[in-house]
Amino acid sequence: MKVQSVRTHVLDYPLDTQFESASMHFSRRQHCLVEVVCDDGTVGWGECLGPATLNAAVVDAYGASLIGKDPLKTEVIWLELYNRLRDQGQRGLTVTALSGIDIALWDIKGKYFDVPISTLLGGRVRDSVHAYATGSFRREGVDRVTDIAHEVAGYRREGFHAVKIKIGFDVEEDLAVIAAVRDAVGPDVRLMIDANHGYDFLEAVEVGVRAAEYGVDWFEEPVLPEQISTYRAVRAEQPIPVAGGETWHGRYAMQEPLETRAIDILQPDICGVGGFTEMRRVADMAAMHGVRLVPHVWGTAICIAASLQFMASLLPNPPRRHPIDPILEFDRTENPFRQAVVVTPLEHEYGVVPIPDGPGLGIEINRDALSQYALKES
Ligand code: CA
Repeated sequence: MKVQSVRTHVLDYPLDTQFESASMHFSRRQHCLVEVVCDDGTVGWGECLGPATLNAAVVDAYGASLIGKDPLKTEVIWLELYNRLRDQGQRGLTVTALSGIDIALWDIKGKYFDVPISTLLGGRVRDSVHAYATGSFRREGVDRVTDIAHEVAGYRREGFHAVKIKIGFDVEEDLAVIAAVRDAVGPDVRLMIDANHGYDFLEAVEVGVRAAEYGVDWFEEPVLPEQISTYRAVRAEQPIPVAGGETWHGRYAMQEPLETRAIDILQPDICGVGGFTEMRRVADMAAMHGVRLVPHVWGTAICIAASLQFMASLLPNPPRRHPIDPILEFDRTENPFRQAVVVTPLEHEYGVVPIPDGPGLGIEINRDALSQYALKES
């Protein structure tokens, strides 16, 4: 079996209702999918985290060198591609683009051996995962406190055991939102806060100290992701566990946060950190340092399926009789690609998502949807 072609699909969808995090305004959803076709007709799918057209350009640049290669040599290909752009790469698009290719190659490997990727990773520990609802972005023209309280009450009714809300806009308003959300979901739903690196150190500490009384599970991206020593200081000066890692790509980016204990919870994204190949290494590093791993997930059904295959085989740490299970980040914002790109959508039932057990990623791509949402060049 040899690689015959590497293609990218940039999906584009204008949102009905625009929204924003502390650091980004969303008027459209765009995602870059990777399709690797082999000479025996086997097709593998992957996805890249981040700017879709830029990822597509890097995947295209990598793609030419894959033609004629054995797609089962995932480690060899990973190193070759990483090494090609290492001097100017190391993090960012060079690794997010590589992630999409790596996921597609693992999908091919699973189909070749006729097993789900979780089997190739060493076997399943679990067949389903609890999901937490990610949403509660800021929207224009509404009262943010009541808007978000209303939104999270809906997640509770749907059966979610945990919700994550967006902060990082304004300390006092953010604290009012946190209080209203705790009131709306009651004491039994887990609550996480995500500042999308919108605060400086002093604001992060103030929010952490004052939000702790509302029972917050973790404080995500409190400060800029490049400032590892500031992460350490935030962790030391306020009581809520600190989470981060969605912008740290490749294992070297994880080294300092883990070795200097700048975080309590590591959040690598399989579509950004380097695909299955690198995610395994990062999971081992986190386990070695006694840091909990909760994958970041933000994309289409391909990204969700890849995360689920990885989570199926993630070993418990510690391996006790009733271990801590990883929880799935389940984006609840307007995004047709969560369901439309696959024949059988990945959905939750009362906050629990079953992990597909078909070959590879365990999903079948709906090509009509890819054409329907293909980016129209302007
Ligand atoms: Ca986040």
